[in-house]
Amino acid sequence: MNTLTHHIAGQRLAPDSLPVQPVFNPATGAVQAQVVLGTPACVDVAVAAAAAAFPAWADTPPVRRARVLMQFLALLNARQHQLAEAITREHGKVLSDALGEVTRGIEIVEFACGIPQLLKGDWCEQVSTGIDNWITRQPLGVVAGITPFNFPCMVPCWMFPLAIACGNTFVLKPSERDPSAALLMADWLQEAGLPDGVFNVVQGGKPVVDALLTHPQVQAVSFVGSTPIARHIYETGARHGKRVQALGGAKNHLVVMPDADLDQAVDALIGAAYGSAGERCMAISVAVLVGDVADTVVERLAQRARALKVGNGMEGGVEMGPVITAEAKARIEGLIEAGVAEGARLVVDGRGLVVPGHEAGFFVGGTLFDHVTPQMRIWQEEIFGPVLACVRVPDLAAALDLIHRHAYGNGVACYTRDGGVAREFARRVQVGMVGINVPIPVPMAPMGFGGWKQSLFGDTHAYGEEGVRFYTRQKSVMQRWPEGSEGAQFVMPVAK
Ligand code: NAD
Repeated sequence: MNTLTHHIAGQRLAPDSLPVQPVFNPATGAVQAQVVLGTPACVDVAVAAAAAAFPAWADTPPVRRARVLMQFLALLNARQHQLAEAITREHGKVLSDALGEVTRGIEIVEFACGIPQLLKGDWCEQVSTGIDNWITRQPLGVVAGITPFNFPCMVPCWMFPLAIACGNTFVLKPSERDPSAALLMADWLQEAGLPDGVFNVVQGGKPVVDALLTHPQVQAVSFVGSTPIARHIYETGARHGKRVQALGGAKNHLVVMPDADLDQAVDALIGAAYGSAGERCMAISVAVLVGDVADTVVERLAQRARALKVGNGMEGGVEMGPVITAEAKARIEGLIEAGVAEGARLVVDGRGLVVPGHEAGFFVGGTLFDHVTPQMRIWQEEIFGPVLACVRVPDLAAALDLIHRHAYGNGVACYTRDGGVAREFARRVQVGMVGINVPIPVPMAPMGFGGWKQSLFGDTHAYGEEGVRFYTRQKSVMQRWPEGSEGAQFVMPVAK
């Protein structure tokens, strides 16, 4: 049995006495590895390694830090298939989708390679007579990242490339469900020339997370995961004096206006609802059908949902893989049952799907509900599975009202051919990331990622220039070189 361990100060470390947890192949249901579950003592060792590496790394010129990342980038590009295969084996998403995830991670590394430009400060000469004032941004120290199962490469890449490019050292706590991607990246960072201790991985669950949140040497915590845990991270981290960004769950709506190109809208809904088996924080889980489009759209969605090719993500031609665990499958099927009990019309039922040759896999078929209302759990709760709920509304105002009633505000999309409607929608909607004829508007690397409301706790978005701000602190320096003594000044100095 392959045992996945910690990566601390350039070494794989795992005391024999640590408990382990199985890592499944969700397509077969088989245990394919085990992961050690770290303790607070493991966190102490990792943070000590990161703290020891910090002074020299922070002093390394940004251009040389960038060169290490460029080497890492070359390795990532050359080995992206290896990484994608590791993701598909542990997560279940189809291989082409895993490759897409790796590409989005690579794009953040590319952005971080521009760190000499990103760290340029501001300067004001002669801010007062004989005085200059400049602003620099300096690294924080040891920073931590805690990541979810659904993007085991991309989400860590939202964090560590910029964090270490800025001169910090990093401790990553990946999801215990798919820990291999983090270890591969740790090896490749080391091979790229990153000094030992700058990037560390500690495996485990809540005890490791809580030790990071309370450790006095951890300066900042980035988290991505579900909303209850995000809130816990934000509150506990802040109580212990840390800078925190905690990205939470989502329920993303896609509005189909009556004038939309319905071919495009249906394609968008099918891909965004069922891609990655709905296990994306930017998955579309609610179709908001405006005016008279509903009957046509529901009928076309139903045909496509029934025809989805569900199977092992390693096999060509498969469109949707399994969900992450047997527990996730049971939870999703329970919510489908709740939708039926609450009176929604179950148009396509994905329960009970059996994939030949993979009878023990954690599969749920594409599921479609119509006539969903805001009173139902299937509208209120994040299902995080291949379940699309259709809500019928009369007009754009009702669509916006529905979206605004939801506790989450991560992503949203509007399909229309009317520029005025599109502009009004983008301006008015109370959601952090908006797509106009774009179903999954995950911003590109320079732009930064983040939702509103219960989808993000904290002040800054992930990556982009907000990421640079999160992983650095501002220092302002005023200098003057007067000649001779001017005597003590007892009044508050003002610009002269
Ligand atoms: P999760 O919240 O269960 O786990 C996330 C991380 O927190 C994992 O590393 C896990 O080990 C740790 N964790 C779990 N329970 C904990 C606890 N009680 N105390 C401390 N740490 C704990 O999330 P998940 O199931 O891995 O991922 C799916 C969730 O992540 C969904 O809600 C999804 O919307 C969200 N997500 C959000 C974004 C975003 O950008 N907003 C992106 C990806 C995923």
